[in-house]
Amino acid sequence: MARLLILGGTAEAAELAARLAGDDRLETVTSLAGLTQMPTATAGRVRRGGFGGPDGLAAFLKQENYQALVDATHPFAAQIARHAAEAAEAAGVPRVRLLRPPFERTPGDRFILVPDMAAAAAALPDGARVFLAAGRREIAAFAARKDLWCLVRMIEPPAAGEAFPAGEVVVGRPPADPEAEIALLQEHRIGWIVSKDSGGRAGAKIVAARRLGLPVVLVERPPQPDGPTVSTVADSIAWIEATLFAAPRA
Ligand code: NAP
Repeated sequence: MARLLILGGTAEAAELAARLAGDDRLETVTSLAGLTQMPTATAGRVRRGGFGGPDGLAAFLKQENYQALVDATHPFAAQIARHAAEAAEAAGVPRVRLLRPPFERTPGDRFILVPDMAAAAAALPDGARVFLAAGRREIAAFAARKDLWCLVRMIEPPAAGEAFPAGEVVVGRPPADPEAEIALLQEHRIGWIVSKDSGGRAGAKIVAARRLGLPVVLVERPPQPDGPTVSTVADSIAWIEATLFAAPRA
């Protein structure tokens, strides 16, 4: 049986694990960083926690005899993606990056591209009412802007004592339906959106902004390591098939 490691923490990683679950040629393990208390349900075996850098991951791949690695981590999880590339190279294990496409650009979009969340906070006009879809570590950049009112959507509630901007928090994952996002934005009289260019399901807020004509301060993606990259779960399965099961050419 071939052993496959999926670096997860995304909807795509969970979908890939679910689609491989019935494949009896494969033993699949999904690795989660272990930061989220309520991760997406994942089929098959799951391990949690960091590896201790690229050397730790390379040792893990070798000791546990993995034959392939799918890095399906989030487009903004730059460190683990870099570590995965280095570790796979060192361990001689084939790796593919599963990277969902960025948000679609259409004529009329009011995107203001910035390199990071600090630049996003600086780009907002005085007194703006902002919808902020950001992780816990990214909120602090906005807390210093005392003039802003922020509707913050987070997957998990903030811890007590965390630096936080004035406004409200909605706890939950992004809805797939732009109409739900439009209703939320209108209810809170939002004038500006701040988002990472995550792509995928989080796109409903971008569609909502487009329909309402709202400007979006969009944090650009970090650079990705060189090497094979696919953008869909189906293409990652084709890569697994070709890498692990294709008959060698005569
Ligand atoms: P990161 O900065 O790239 O990684 C930080 C460290 O966390 C890594 O060096 C690694 O520790 C550990 N790590 C990250 N992903 C791991 C995984 N799947 N399995 C085992 N260890 C992992 O990552 P991050 O931005 O904090 O994201 C953490 C996780 O949340 C990722 O798995 C990612 O897919 C998911 N996520 C991130 C975002 C985002 O916006 N960044 C959004 C949604 C989901 P060691 O060096 O000790 O191995």
